[in-house]
Amino acid sequence: MTVLVVGSVALDSVETPFGKADDVLGGSGTFFSSSASHFVPVQLVGVVGSDYPVEKLQPLAARGVDLAGLERAEGESFRWRGRYRHDLNSAETLETRLGVFSHFKPKIPAQFRNAPFVFLANIDPRLQLEVLKQVERPKLVACDTMNFWIESRRSDLLELLGKVDLITLNDGEARQLTEQSNLIKAAKWILARGPKHVIIKKGEHGAFMFTKDTVFFAPAYPLENIFDPTGAGDSFAGGFIGYLARTGDLSEANLRRAVIYGSAMGSFAVEGFSTSRLLEITADDINRRVQEFARLVAFDASIGT
Ligand code: AMP
Repeated sequence: MTVLVVGSVALDSVETPFGKADDVLGGSGTFFSSSASHFVPVQLVGVVGSDYPVEKLQPLAARGVDLAGLERAEGESFRWRGRYRHDLNSAETLETRLGVFSHFKPKIPAQFRNAPFVFLANIDPRLQLEVLKQVERPKLVACDTMNFWIESRRSDLLELLGKVDLITLNDGEARQLTEQSNLIKAAKWILARGPKHVIIKKGEHGAFMFTKDTVFFAPAYPLENIFDPTGAGDSFAGGFIGYLARTGDLSEANLRRAVIYGSAMGSFAVEGFSTSRLLEITADDINRRVQEFARLVAFDASIGT
């Protein structure tokens, strides 16, 4: 089954303790597609400016990402500049330049409108809402967001919550959105506003998936070398939704497995700058890492005190 994603297609400038990269391939839509395309065909909707090196998206097209919904507009591409200090869990945004995104009106191509899985990657919530008006009854709609939009588009974001099945966000964003410092209370606050599933990511400390009645926790894969945390969240989402779309199974047990696939893809994303690592890994690499996750959390609970 295909996945439709709308998100940012950006030029990122990133500084980490290990190096610096300027104007490299980035954006929530780009990372999501690079990750999800390991599982299913992906349809990407977004916009780039006249300065975008579109030929650099060729490896995505070669991986089965349909770029028919990627508009090219006059003006500057979306640019994000961020820095990670020694705590690689949180990015410090130094600059966000919306460029062509400030006038963008998503137009979902007719052949994309019946996609069974829709991911509204981190982008202006008004655009996320626009997309929902154009799609036909997807099996699952999930979204992501970030502090930038929580601050500037809060009411649109709350409207969006009532229209999605699932949301992924990191712990800081969950606290900011809900004004609850406890993550269980934050998850309950979100669940009360629409989504049936809330995934709260905690960077190198793993991820929680909450429903009204259940909590599931997956650790992050313990990596000795992390080069660039940018895109980990979007790659997590790509692995999670990609796996669900590939299996077509929305049972709780399969959603839990999907969290592990998401965690595996997030762990690959941070092993290289930009999308480099995501675009070189193979199905064998992914399967091996998922098996390592199973070993990481395996223990015998049959022996009591
Ligand atoms: P993450 O997966 O959370 O690390 O997302 C990183 C990506 O988000 C970067 O490649 C940025 O280009 C993109 N990004 C940063 N700020 C925004 C924003 N306000 N709206 C949409 N995308 C953004």
